[in-house]
Amino acid sequence: MSYDVVITNGTLVSPELGKLRGDIGITGEEIASIANPGTLEGQGTEEIDATDKHVLPGAIDPHTHHGIYRGLEADAETESRSDLVGGVTTIGNYFRRAGSYEEILDEYFAEAEPNYYHDYFFSLGLLSYEHIEEIPYIIDELGITSFKWYKNYKDVAPEKFGVDCEMHDDWADAFIQELAAQDVPTTLGHHSENMEITSALGDSPYLDTGLDDDQEYRDYDILVEQFPDYAEAQSMIASGALARQHNYDDSFYAVHISAGKTADELAMLQDAGWDIIGETCTHYLTLTAEECDERHNVNPPVRSKADQETLWDRVADGTISCIGTDHCANLEDDKIGEDVVDSLPGFPSSATMLPLILSEGVTAGRISLERAVAVTSTNTAKAFNLYPKKGSLQIGTDADLTVVDMDETKTVTPELLQGGADYSPYDGREVTGWPTHTLVRGTIAYANGEVIAERGFGTHIDRPIKYDN
Ligand SMILES: [Zn+2]
Repeated sequence: MSYDVVITNGTLVSPELGKLRGDIGITGEEIASIANPGTLEGQGTEEIDATDKHVLPGAIDPHTHHGIYRGLEADAETESRSDLVGGVTTIGNYFRRAGSYEEILDEYFAEAEPNYYHDYFFSLGLLSYEHIEEIPYIIDELGITSFKWYKNYKDVAPEKFGVDCEMHDDWADAFIQELAAQDVPTTLGHHSENMEITSALGDSPYLDTGLDDDQEYRDYDILVEQFPDYAEAQSMIASGALARQHNYDDSFYAVHISAGKTADELAMLQDAGWDIIGETCTHYLTLTAEECDERHNVNPPVRSKADQETLWDRVADGTISCIGTDHCANLEDDKIGEDVVDSLPGFPSSATMLPLILSEGVTAGRISLERAVAVTSTNTAKAFNLYPKKGSLQIGTDADLTVVDMDETKTVTPELLQGGADYSPYDGREVTGWPTHTLVRGTIAYANGEVIAERGFGTHIDRPIKYDN
């Protein structure tokens, strides 16, 4: 037997296998063999010696905003290249636009296809009644089965997007029923934010008192005060309750949970039998508000050390099942405003997702390596209906793999990450645990610091996936 690629003598890690020393043989785009350590040596056209390394299913960042600041063509190229450095082999990109998705999406696909180095899927923001009518077309013709409900656009959608919809609950009720009626599994991302509360706080003179002070840290505190934890928690519960009325809570996916309070409430709901899926982002697990400045403006904001510790506990105990990043590629000059509040929200972070979780989750003793794989790959593939094609180490599934050296320490710089942004929110941080190789559908795409994939190799993952094994 011979293979196109073999990876030998590594420790394979996945929720299905646990931790197992072994070899992987790849034929074409798929895993063809999982064998005892050393037994596939000499059988590959290309070979990777993974002695003292771990082999994981490629990381999946389900929450990116490619195209939001620089256009999709540019971001698809630079950000997917950077992703390979961090072991990310699939991303989910959110896209929202007024008007007919049927008319807009062809162009969007055309910009993506020649540029992505790795595979990708899209999630579409629902902004109007027209979008609800398009749901069957979007699923059947575009292969997109995930959507997003932005609670932070309630009331302001007509002004912001020019749509004839204030995004109130009667409208949400209509799209949840439409989604629940589909005969394929779907996913509804939810931006949890009580807009009445946060916009009133944004206008509050009480918050302005911080602005005339010269301290950066107080600047960031204003952001935290404008977006309080309870406004996130309450919104998730209220919207999740509506989804539950239509037996749709198992497809309700709370994006970027930033507050310990929200995670604790989610645990309570899950104990009561609600099936809501929770996502947090790397920055809520690895930064605190005290460390943050203009570069870290993001919605929701980074919070306290106590929030961070609670989120880690909830990642460890299973309450939070997926990790994403809310990645945006912007340049420091464009991002930074007069102060924290005036700066643009969002920052680049997909490529640091897996290394930070390995470093500050696994090495720091907060979660096991198996749990790290689950939350950065397998659970995400399940939540977005990509599993087992993605997110698993099984014969017949896509050979999207990352080989990591858990002992390698690197200092984060934009040069290391090779993306489109000229800064990282983690600039200067020492992170231990980095990919040495990243494979996309059987092709070695990144090896020892160098991206060797072909631009445009990545492709859109049509869902529901076709998987016959
Ligand atoms: Zn986002």
